[in-house]
This record gives sequence, C-alpha cells and structure tokens, in this order.
Amino acid sequence: MIRAIVDPPWDFSAWRAQARMALRGGIEPASIDWQDPQHLSLLDGLALNAIPARIDAPRVPRAFLPLAARVLAHREPQRHALLYRLLWRMTHSEPHLLTHVTDRDVHRARELEKAVRRDAHKMKAFVRFRAVPGEDNAYVAWFEPVNNIVDLVAPFFMRRFAGMRWAILTPDRSVSWDLQTLSFGHGALQSDAPGDDAQESLWRTYYANIFNPARTNPRMMRQEMPQKYWKNLPEAQLLPDLLRNAGHRVRDMAERVPQPPRRRIPLPPLPAPDPADDSLAALKAAARECRRCLLWEPATQTVFGEGPQDARVMIVGEQPGDEEDLSGRPFVGPAGKLFNGALAELGIDRAQIYITNAVKHFKFERRGKFRLHRNPEPSERAACRIWLERELATVRPHIVVCMGATASEAVFGKGFRLLQERGVWRTLVDGTRAFATVHPAWVLRQRDATQRDAAYRNLVDDLRLLVSGTAED
Ligand code: SF4
Repeated sequence: MIRAIVDPPWDFSAWRAQARMALRGGIEPASIDWQDPQHLSLLDGLALNAIPARIDAPRVPRAFLPLAARVLAHREPQRHALLYRLLWRMTHSEPHLLTHVTDRDVHRARELEKAVRRDAHKMKAFVRFRAVPGEDNAYVAWFEPVNNIVDLVAPFFMRRFAGMRWAILTPDRSVSWDLQTLSFGHGALQSDAPGDDAQESLWRTYYANIFNPARTNPRMMRQEMPQKYWKNLPEAQLLPDLLRNAGHRVRDMAERVPQPPRRRIPLPPLPAPDPADDSLAALKAAARECRRCLLWEPATQTVFGEGPQDARVMIVGEQPGDEEDLSGRPFVGPAGKLFNGALAELGIDRAQIYITNAVKHFKFERRGKFRLHRNPEPSERAACRIWLERELATVRPHIVVCMGATASEAVFGKGFRLLQERGVWRTLVDGTRAFATVHPAWVLRQRDATQRDAAYRNLVDDLRLLVSGTAED
C-alpha cells in the first residue's frame, strides 16, 4: 500500500499535492491508504513522494476544483479516497463523470458538498460577535461548526465586516481580521471569547420587538435555526417565551380595532453635530450622527474618510458604494481595488494618503436583492459639504485630488468641466494645490476591454502628477 497524508486534512492544496503525485506515479485508487495526520496507521507503507513520476499531470475538469474544496471541509473520513477515485476516473476514461448524478461516487461527493454548504450558511447566519472589553472596535465570536469550514467561510466575514477587527473562535480552528490580513490559528475554548455584552441586550430588545407572532412557524423555525445553535445566540434565550405567547398575541392582534396607516412625515434635517475636539477621530464620531439630509436613513452607516491626520495628499471621491456602505470604509469596492492598483503601479503607499468622499452616505435604489447606485441630489451634496470642509481644515493636505465630477464640483465649485480640465494643477484659495481626474468607477464602466484599458492608462497618467507634485512639495 502507498501512504498519502493530507495535512491539515481539510486543506485543498495539501490534498491536491498528494493527488498530483499519485496521478503522476500512475497509482490506482485502490493502492492508496489515505491517512489522517492525527491518527496515523501503524502499518507502514511507501510514502507517495518516494514514487517516481511516470506521466505528466493530466488536465482536470474545472468544475471538480470547487467541489473538491468543499468536500474536503467535511469530516467524513473517506473523503480523500473518494475525491481521488473521482479524479482518477475523470482523468482516465470518464471526463464527464461529474454530470452523471446517479453515479455512486458523484452522488456521495454532492451529498458531502451539500452538507458543507448548509454548515457554511449556518455559520454566516448564526455567528454573533461580542465586543472585547476595553478595546475599541474589536469583536470576538464563538461558533461550533459541524465541519472544518472556517477557511471556506472566513473570506465572507472579511468582506462583510471589513471595517472592524474581529476573531471567530471554534473548537478546531480560529481566524482573525486586523483590517488588513486574515490570519488562521489553532482551535480555542468557548471561555476564550467574551461573555454577554451591552449590545446583546440591545439586540434582544430589538429582536423581541420585531418578532411577529402571526408569522411564526415553530417547525420551520427549528429547521432553519436548529436547536444546537441556540446556546450561542443571544436572541434564542427569548424564543421559548416568544413561541409560548405567540397564540395570545395573535388573538390580541385580531381583536384590536383596525387603525388607518399613519402617513410617514420625514424628519426635518438637523444641524451637523459638533465634534468633541479638533481631532480627526472626534470629527468622524460626529459625522456618524449626521442627519443633515435623508441619505443616512436607508444607508448602513456613515462612511467617513480614513488615513493619517497629517497626510500630505487627500483624495476626494464621490460617494460610498455598496461595499463601502457595508464595511464603513471608503474605496474598498471594485473601484477602490482599481485605484489601489494604480497607486501600486506608481509606487504610492495608500496608507500615507487621506481618502474620503464628497458625500458620506450611500444613495441607492433597491432592485430585488441588489442596491443600485444613485447620484446624490445637489441639495444632498450641499448638505454634506460641511464634512469635507471640516476634513480639509483638520488634515490640511498639501495636495487634493478630486476623482469624478461630484468631487470636483465640491472642491472647485459649479461649472468645473472635468473632461476638459482633468490632470491640470489648480490652486485653492488657501494655497492648497489640487487637480481633478476621473473616478475609477468611470473606468470600470467603459464598454469594452480596449476602452477600459485606455481609460485606466489615462487615470494612471493623471495620478502620476502626485509623484512629481509630492517631490516638489
Ligand atoms: S449624506 Fe452627508 S449630510 Fe447627508 S446625512 Fe450623510 S453625512 Fe449627513
């Protein structure tokens, strides 16, 4: 027998390295003993890396790779052998094997994949972060997944909670995000995570208020939220009482005299809150409470600028997009990634720059599950200008770069013609040097790859002014 060890056993790269050696050595599935590194067999066997390669590694159908990555996350002890059997068959005589849903191996792999998907869905739905006492913007969650899914699900949490420092602890593996990097580590104990916090009692109050007894289906609820997860869900403590009283509450609702719906009168805009001191952190905290226009209401949060208070360069974009709204950070969506690429190409360190938007809340229109970007009205741009002015006065950059028409108008005033005047230095009334260029989102909106490439090159050329400008500075 030939010995194959996948370490760690859920890792796709580790399994692929072993499987590739076996394929190249022409080793049939029945001749391999796939061993768990934690429970190695006493029977000795030849290690796979001692087998000489006899053939080149054959091509593998693309659909197999994501399937294998998910199957490996399952705890089923036979999964390594199952995947190798599929691989062997596909690369020898059955290239379309995965389409044969009634095949025993394919069916089993799909079952394992489905279980892992379900487990990942539960993790996304039931992880509850708790604030770390004494630390700012730091959260820890405890979760007990059925399978080894932490590595699979971690990127979802990174995208969803990009603006906070967090860790998820599980019995087998942990993952943390420090605003820059995802790091994986060993398993932990539940006692390593903080206990109940103030936000949980707030969440319980909210949950009790939105719980609709008329739409309660305990059977469906237990199916969707299996009881094994209840012990780590703050709202689950309320469920027995809420379910018990649901019947009375529905009867009360039915007996109540109907009332005409109340017309919703929008709240009048409020003055901008004043920061507690002249620091950037205080300014950011004040902007979080801003109600100067109605954009704050449907949005998730204020997306304020980020970067050092003594930054020499300030970038002003237009308004946050979907990802910025969810993460609370500017320029982190697809346009932000393109912008990061342009900076990297010019050797400019993003961490040295202050980056903000002319409008601090995401304006959108709902279309099904999508939120489509909408341009802010002139009145909303005017209302939000106060925050940009305060940022300029606090950071006092030497150079301001306006990206897109909204930002250019906020800085240079009405009538600025972006396409004619882009990439040209101007001097603001306080002596700050500034120029405008297109927004990276505009580059992404170009119709075809050639136009996009040309638009990107022009953007990089405009931004090159920063290299000469900061050198002269
Ligand atoms: S968009 Fe600007 S002005 Fe309007 S609520 Fe948000 S921060 Fe305030």
